[in-house]
Amino acid sequence: MKEQEMNEKSVLAIVYENICRDTGKQNESARLIAVIRFLTLSLLSHSLVCSILVSATGHTGALVFSAFSLVLFLGVFVLSYHCSTFTSYCILNVCILFWTIINVYIFGWNIGVQHFLVVLLVFVFFSKYKHETGKIVYSVFLFALRLYLYYYCKSNSPSIRINDVLNNAMQTVNTFFIFLSMGLVAYLFSSSTQEMEGKLIEYNKELQKQASIDPLTGLYNRRRTMEYLDNLLKTAYSQISICLCDIDHFKRVNDTYGHDVGDIVLKAISDTFRKKLPPDTFISRWGGEEFLLIFPRLNGDEAGAALGILRQKIRELSFDGGTEQFTISLTYGLVEYDFHSDITTLLKEADEKLYIGKESGRDRIVF
Ligand code: GH3
Ligand code: MG
Ligand code: MG
Repeated sequence: MKEQEMNEKSVLAIVYENICRDTGKQNESARLIAVIRFLTLSLLSHSLVCSILVSATGHTGALVFSAFSLVLFLGVFVLSYHCSTFTSYCILNVCILFWTIINVYIFGWNIGVQHFLVVLLVFVFFSKYKHETGKIVYSVFLFALRLYLYYYCKSNSPSIRINDVLNNAMQTVNTFFIFLSMGLVAYLFSSSTQEMEGKLIEYNKELQKQASIDPLTGLYNRRRTMEYLDNLLKTAYSQISICLCDIDHFKRVNDTYGHDVGDIVLKAISDTFRKKLPPDTFISRWGGEEFLLIFPRLNGDEAGAALGILRQKIRELSFDGGTEQFTISLTYGLVEYDFHSDITTLLKEADEKLYIGKESGRDRIVF
């Protein structure tokens, strides 16, 4: 039973894939060709149901027209696999237009087939071919055509007179297929818009991430840090401390063990920052081997304590330099925000503290 269900599913999936199959031309919307085929299939089904209806009533003229409709939309469907999307789009437009007009002439106003003009309007407006002016002109034309058909029907009798039963049946069939066609067109186009919107949101998020993150260490970059700091200082409601730190003798690490080992050191230090600092610390790579740490809720003493633990952990790291193991250290310049300095002053103070630390022997926290 389950296997049969799976087979049915895969058949449906194959049918769906084939209906959506692209014509392979470049720069054409794959969604539009799917809408064209689904809409044509809806009209084809409509013609089939009408053929059955009129053959049951034995109305020859109506039967001939239904058969003609069947052949027409079957032809449009087949052609959609051989022409470009734009050609198929034009063919379907013209066919629906003339088919509706002929229908109204033959059966009159009461079977409600004229509402297919509204389907056509929705189809044209949703389609990707822009030409805004053309769409507006086309809408006015459809509006005028509908009015003309209405007044024509008021003063002329239909070519084929059908009885009330067939009239009601065709009104019902038309209503059903008009709703179905409109629903299909709206659903298929809106789902593609939503899909695209979703992709765009994801893409924007990715772009934003790339613009804020340093690729080597995964830490925030300088641009993002300035943004964060600016906002933080503007809305400061608790103690804030910042620390500028710099790897000691890092040039020596590169010169002795190579640039790749230098990169490994940078990544390991970044990982240690992430693991050992309080969770709300904003950690950034300020420049080459310089980092800016922002403690949004700690005063200088509390930040100093957190840095003490960090300094110890970094001192314990051991690196493989190929010929030997080595360790590294950082020097830290710590400043507490006084609630009125600007960013530049705050950063300058941190830099001065860092300089003092370097001058007085490195591997220390200066506060
Ligand atoms: P000090 O203790 O005074 O800070 O000495 P230092 O050698 O660390 O400072 P200096 O400014 O002389 O050298 C910094 C070095 O950092 C030079 C540069 O090649 C290296 N560096 C900067 N960015 C990167 C990077 O992304 N990868 C590697 N491997 N090295 C980097
Ligand atoms: Mg350095
Ligand atoms: Mg430096």
